[in-house]
Amino acid sequence: MTYSIMEYTFDSDTLKNLLSALREQTQVPNFSAFEKLTRRIIVKGWAFNSDVEDLIYHHDSRLGAYQIDLKKIAALMGIHWETVCFRPKSNSKSVCEFDAIRCEDAALFLILLERLGFQTNPDYFVDQLLPSLKFRKKELLNNAELEIFWYRTTKSKFAPLTLKNGRDWRKMKELDSFKTLAGYTITVRGIGSEPDEIEIRSPKYRRQAATTRIICKVCGVEWSKGDPDSSAAHRKEHKKRLHYLDPQPVKEMCIELSEGTEPELVTSLSPAWKHREMYLRAVAFRREFHYDFVQWQSAKGISDPKARGYLFVNDKKIIVGACSFRYQESKSNQKFWALDWAWICPTERRNGHLSKRWPYFRKQYGDFLVTYPVSDQMKSFLEKKGELHLMNVPD
Ligand SMILES: [Zn+2]
Repeated sequence: MTYSIMEYTFDSDTLKNLLSALREQTQVPNFSAFEKLTRRIIVKGWAFNSDVEDLIYHHDSRLGAYQIDLKKIAALMGIHWETVCFRPKSNSKSVCEFDAIRCEDAALFLILLERLGFQTNPDYFVDQLLPSLKFRKKELLNNAELEIFWYRTTKSKFAPLTLKNGRDWRKMKELDSFKTLAGYTITVRGIGSEPDEIEIRSPKYRRQAATTRIICKVCGVEWSKGDPDSSAAHRKEHKKRLHYLDPQPVKEMCIELSEGTEPELVTSLSPAWKHREMYLRAVAFRREFHYDFVQWQSAKGISDPKARGYLFVNDKKIIVGACSFRYQESKSNQKFWALDWAWICPTERRNGHLSKRWPYFRKQYGDFLVTYPVSDQMKSFLEKKGELHLMNVPD
């Protein structure tokens, strides 16, 4: 994550040279020169060492000082130099090699130097590169591409950045503090009179409100308050879970109740809406008992002609729960029915929904097995009925 890199370690000389450059008054950038050079770099796809030096000098002449080694600074900031050469002619035996960085890295270098308080305005470079990033609909972005992608929203709002040389910060005291022309606040600290640490604050930086972890009491989703992405994800999931946690009448079920012969029964021949209702509750069961898989094949339908699902409807014609039976075979080839799971929404538990259907299930499926995992409520239910033996797996 880019935002976590809030400090760079340089050698003392580089630190000193950068600081004296920051103290200088900037000169007017040479727009036409850096725009021309930017376009050339993008066409090549690469920026040679000399291109990088020229590009930066055209933006901010303070960085053209002979003591400043831009190549080294780029490398210390994580920009990767590579060796490139021009495509050789078919009869040539050797090539001339150059140190270069990719054009996205050249834009990144401008972004990073701007973050240090220099006037290496990357707008033009970013504008030239963005369309191709967006056009290609790239799924994966490297660090440089991400910074380019984000540049518009992060400009001038970076978290404070520290340049240091690795000396013991506890012994340092503040030596100086000043503001650059671009509005960056520079604070210098050191052990002696030389700078050992430089802190740079962006002009528009606002400390982001800390996020708070919240577990929604209604849907059980854990989310971060203060993080818009997390909040949106929770709202979406909340709505989905409310469908079975706070169920409302389903139109199709209301029709089925007045017209169908077995409205609660769900088989492989049932319409898709019944499978959707079954599936949602199988998901709820898995979530509650941290089971490995969802015990209803899909929200669209099932292939097992013998599987039997039941949607529990209360007297307000609302689906409040579900369960499903499967025809199984034991190790000794004995066939038997099994109750795989039963789930009732928390507000409707202990209202006798399973109890009411139990005699019918026992008649229909005989001594069926109540399969693992068995909830505590289910155990006490079986205990009350005197049917704990249904938990014993047949041989
Ligand atoms: Zn919620």
